[in-house]
Amino acid sequence: MNDNIFSGLEKLGFNDIINVDLYNDIKTKKEKSSDNSKKISKQGSYLYNKEIICPVCNTAFKAKAVKTSSYRVLSRDTDFFTRYAVINPYFYDIWLCNSCGYASMKVDFFKIKSYKINEIKTSITSKWKPREYPEVYDVDIAIERYKLALLNYYVIESVASKKAMACLKIAWMYRLKNDSKNELIFLGHALTGIEEAFFKEDFPIYGMDRYTTMYLIGELNHKLSNYDKALLWFSKVIVQPGVKYKIKELARDQREYIKLNYLSENKIESKENENEKSTKDHSISKKNFINKFFK
Ligand SMILES: [Zn+2]
Repeated sequence: MNDNIFSGLEKLGFNDIINVDLYNDIKTKKEKSSDNSKKISKQGSYLYNKEIICPVCNTAFKAKAVKTSSYRVLSRDTDFFTRYAVINPYFYDIWLCNSCGYASMKVDFFKIKSYKINEIKTSITSKWKPREYPEVYDVDIAIERYKLALLNYYVIESVASKKAMACLKIAWMYRLKNDSKNELIFLGHALTGIEEAFFKEDFPIYGMDRYTTMYLIGELNHKLSNYDKALLWFSKVIVQPGVKYKIKELARDQREYIKLNYLSENKIESKENENEKSTKDHSISKKNFINKFFK
């Protein structure tokens, strides 16, 4: 079967009519594509260039930045992913030096220690092929840039929280694409790193205090279907004095959500007893990570 319904007209000069979608008007298509380019040029107007000097190779380059006046928050997910209208600041979170391939989240960009610079030169720059990016970034570009930053963090053996935060943001980008398989893979890596950071690093971690981090560990466990662990972490947040009201509320809400949706009545009871027991006596929990927590 010939897919080209206009075959036979080539000799009349119409040899470039391929992939015809007969009932989708050319005009509508053109409008759609012009709508799209309008959207892109509108997004471009929310951006400006920031002059940066690369701490690895000293080259000056321009990083795209979102004008703070153009942030429009739509909503926040339970693991702190913020959804934005108009333009997505996460897309511009990574600064990348196109000369040497050094990349990181912008808050970390200048924090690279001088003795790590050679590691970037050896493991990144030696292989780096410069890449031209369009004026306006999309979710796929964001994923590529976050992954490049993650590779940089890995190469210079950054602390767990940096790698974890990059993984968390990659997971969020996959969420935007409704790619739950990859989202869960990166949420898993994020959880591993945030748990390690919780026990080893000083707070705040990327702006999160101890209890906010505990809540996030609970919520990542929840998203990864580790309901028992999630409940334990939420309970710890709920019973601690001095926790921000908003975080306590979130922990309560998510605990209720898990109980209602995933646990049978018997299981809830035993879970409640376990939680009560472990809040009364810190040393009796059988769970290793709880023991670690109270060290
Ligand atoms: Zn550089």
